[in-house]
Amino acid sequence: MKLVDAHIHLSEVEYADHLGEVIADAVDNDVSALITCSTDLRTCQRDIELAEQYPKLIYPALGVHPYNVNFLKPDELQEIIDLILRQNQRKCPVAIGEIGLDCTYDTIWERQLFVFDKMLHVAEQLELPVIIHSRGTTDKIVDMLQSYNVKRVLLHWFSHTIDTLNKSIDLGYFISEGPPIVYSGILREIVKQTPITNLLTETDGPVPYRKNPFNDQLTKPSYIRHVLDAIAEIKNTDVSDVAEQIAKNFETFFNVKL
Ligand SMILES: [Zn+2]
Repeated sequence: MKLVDAHIHLSEVEYADHLGEVIADAVDNDVSALITCSTDLRTCQRDIELAEQYPKLIYPALGVHPYNVNFLKPDELQEIIDLILRQNQRKCPVAIGEIGLDCTYDTIWERQLFVFDKMLHVAEQLELPVIIHSRGTTDKIVDMLQSYNVKRVLLHWFSHTIDTLNKSIDLGYFISEGPPIVYSGILREIVKQTPITNLLTETDGPVPYRKNPFNDQLTKPSYIRHVLDAIAEIKNTDVSDVAEQIAKNFETFFNVKL
């Protein structure tokens, strides 16, 4: 089986002293590919380095997380855009992300919109897929995306609503879900309603998960095994069939050969 983590943040400080352990955990557990998502200039640079260090295992998505839009230095947004444009000539990044809008950061709403628009234009220009953070804003983002020429869209940690889910699936968008589908009724329902051909697996590490079997430990790529087991259980199908289809989805979405 080839397992995939379509959303992890390997450049976050929580992983700094544990990188060897995390890579070994991925390799020992058949996790064949990790998409490391950047959130600002520092993590963009670091994620590029990691991808160079671990080719055919780590692939970078470059972008600005909505949380960070207010902490960008004056020229940082332009520096990130220039970096992405330069890197693109070397088949890197494989996606623009993590980008999006978050309703809980409402005091920086205008700034979020400004940065999100810039990032979507970069994705259009380079014909790259986008990895979207949409806490409380999924309906709005799915509407907004109609006016951009972005074909491959991944709605990460999709949580509501079923109407928006159906609309997203009709548009050919992908949904990624992670460890909480082991215990969250709402997310299990989302997985149930999402065709397996539109589904990807993620950990969103180093985000910790409090409940069993994760118990607040450092989030690792091997958590994907629990995610696949949960999908197989929800869909009442074989875990190896689930893994195979998700690996195919990953290759199609990111244009990467596993
Ligand atoms: Zn994330």
